[in-house]
Amino acid sequence: MRTLKLKKEKLDTFLFKVSKHGELWGPRKKGEVYIYDKIDDIKDLIKEPVTTFLPIKKLFLPPRFQMFHYNGKTYEENTEIFQQRIVYGVPSCEIHSLLIFDRVFGHTYKDPYYFKRREQTTIIALSCLPRESCFCKSTNTHVIEEGFDLAMTDLNDFYLVWVGTSKGDDLIRLSPDLFDRNVTQEDIREFIEWRERRNNEFNQTIDFVAIPDLMDLNYNSPIWEEFAEKCLSCGACSMVCPTCNCFDVIDEIELSDGSVKRERYWDSCMFKEYSMVAGGHNFREAKAERLKLWYTHKLHSFTGAYGKPSCIGCGRCIITCPVDINILSVVKALLTGKVDKNSLLTRKSK
Ligand code: SF4
Ligand code: SF4
Repeated sequence: MRTLKLKKEKLDTFLFKVSKHGELWGPRKKGEVYIYDKIDDIKDLIKEPVTTFLPIKKLFLPPRFQMFHYNGKTYEENTEIFQQRIVYGVPSCEIHSLLIFDRVFGHTYKDPYYFKRREQTTIIALSCLPRESCFCKSTNTHVIEEGFDLAMTDLNDFYLVWVGTSKGDDLIRLSPDLFDRNVTQEDIREFIEWRERRNNEFNQTIDFVAIPDLMDLNYNSPIWEEFAEKCLSCGACSMVCPTCNCFDVIDEIELSDGSVKRERYWDSCMFKEYSMVAGGHNFREAKAERLKLWYTHKLHSFTGAYGKPSCIGCGRCIITCPVDINILSVVKALLTGKVDKNSLLTRKSK
């Protein structure tokens, strides 16, 4: 893999050039949170690594989008999926979430909507230091070897830039003079020091190797009922989780002219209606069953099928769940056989 250097003061010029070859996307501030958004003015782009409210999945599997429109005579495709995009600032863990999506959406049937967006998007990854709720070292998603076109590490007054694909190389070729090919021993030493600092800054550690067995042992444990007493079934954990990918499809039919709009939107197994089938039977009417499904899928079944958990250690469930049910509190309960009620907030559940 080719490695180059980019002086920090040249980043804006580089991204400006890049933005002439497709929509530039990246993190920007919205109220109190950061979001991935289309960047029309480079001043709005957050250059430092941040955790966005919704993960990168929203660019490849939007919360709601039109698959096609039938006007009574012909079909009109969703042309938005053909838009060329360059996304800056994707952290390592979220690159792993896309690699998970590649497997899920390409497993038996290649999802054309997902893969077209993937094909049309160039990814500039940005390494980060762990925040309070991050535990990506435990999921081994703090480092990346694939899944990006360019990857940048912020080292004092320059970025070390890895060229991962020919698409990444094309971006470099837009302005080759901005980049320095001379990576010195001193630069390498700086990178090694940065890596050691990152590895030492994690506050949270989870032993994921032990979790599938613990899930088996706790299958009928009362911990699920105890968590269910607090859970609001709001689905926020699924919405913010970079690896949750369930969706539903609806047809909106216009009776006056017979036109049809087919839409896809995010769904969550935390919702009561998720497991309801024709005839009104619900396979997971109880909240405890739905919670168990969410965690069994992430920590057990996915590991069995793909050799790793469907969790990238981003910590969003820790930040987001209004009653503090998250990977950490669940793993703690799996390990001890009891729920630490002091760490769970009590809200009125409907
Ligand atoms: S676990 Fe938390 S975020 Fe998820 S549905 Fe329950 S209350 Fe909402
Ligand atoms: S389960 Fe939580 S920590 Fe793991 S990927 Fe999902 S939101 Fe991030």
